[in-house]
Amino acid sequence: MNKKAIAMLSGGLDSILAVRLVQEQGIEIHAINFLTIFCTCTHKGCQHAATQAAKQLNIPLKVLNITEEYLEIIKKPKHGYGSNMNPCIDCRIFTFGMAKKYMEEIGASFIITGEVLGERPMSQRRDAILLIEKEVGLKGRILRPLSAKLFDPTLAEKEGIVDREKLLEISGRSRKPQIELAKNFNINDYPCPAGGCLLTDPGFAKRIRDLLDHNELILDNVRLLKFGRHFRLSEEAKLVVGRDEGENGELEKLAMPNDLLFKLADRQGPVSILRISSIRPSVSNETLIALAASIAAYHTKFRSEEALNINYWKAGEPGGEATLAIKPAKAEDVEKARL
Ligand code: SF4
Repeated sequence: MNKKAIAMLSGGLDSILAVRLVQEQGIEIHAINFLTIFCTCTHKGCQHAATQAAKQLNIPLKVLNITEEYLEIIKKPKHGYGSNMNPCIDCRIFTFGMAKKYMEEIGASFIITGEVLGERPMSQRRDAILLIEKEVGLKGRILRPLSAKLFDPTLAEKEGIVDREKLLEISGRSRKPQIELAKNFNINDYPCPAGGCLLTDPGFAKRIRDLLDHNELILDNVRLLKFGRHFRLSEEAKLVVGRDEGENGELEKLAMPNDLLFKLADRQGPVSILRISSIRPSVSNETLIALAASIAAYHTKFRSEEALNINYWKAGEPGGEATLAIKPAKAEDVEKARL
């Protein structure tokens, strides 16, 4: 065993403190960070938080985007979901597996994480932590400096590479000990603790479940989930209606070649996207277009009018516009379709 370790660095306070505690003991640390489309760390993104932290800690950082693999995990997690669509145990097994590979690649001996026993309901329970460690084949090789004394000594501690006495025994959801420790280390600049990724959010999870149930869980569809109001129109069709100017712009950027875009013909209003995924539709395109236009019309300031002119066109073909005079949908029909 040598004095070289991999740190799983989210950029949050726990992971920064874990690195500092071990760095103080003369261990050479290389950080790894995982990005997915579901990250919520900071408004500038997770990569930003991890990059800032690595700079502050003066350690090299490797960033891996694992969104594609992650989508597969969400489809059928071996250990199930947490309170929403978050497959935390499978997610941790996967990321630890990637960290293990990196550890072997660069000849490091163990892995450091900012895990705190009992801080997160699903993945940081003792039984879950031990299960993850066992499944990924890292027994004795994961050091959790913030909670180390609450676990059996790791190989690094047993072999005297790391002094167990200088490690901590923090547990639970209170952040007080970490904030105190940050003060001692003179660490003032760290992002707020993220409560988990977007998959833990009930509204977002409902939309992910809908994609999964309709065999539509692909990256292009997940990207759309971050914007607008979402409606399921049929087994194969979804509508997304922008909520403000910023979202209207994002939706136009995210439109795929076969999507239909909708907008009021002569007045200000939202941009909407109709995405039809099946090659064997159960409902005719005309019916879907009329339904989409009526829901789009409902989300304008003019919903009380008898009929509104809505333009629609195929994405990337703004010249090919057609116009439909449509009665705005009734509130109860809108609610029925809402996700
Ligand atoms: S909250 Fe999301 S990112 Fe965090 S462990 Fe669970 S599934 Fe993975």
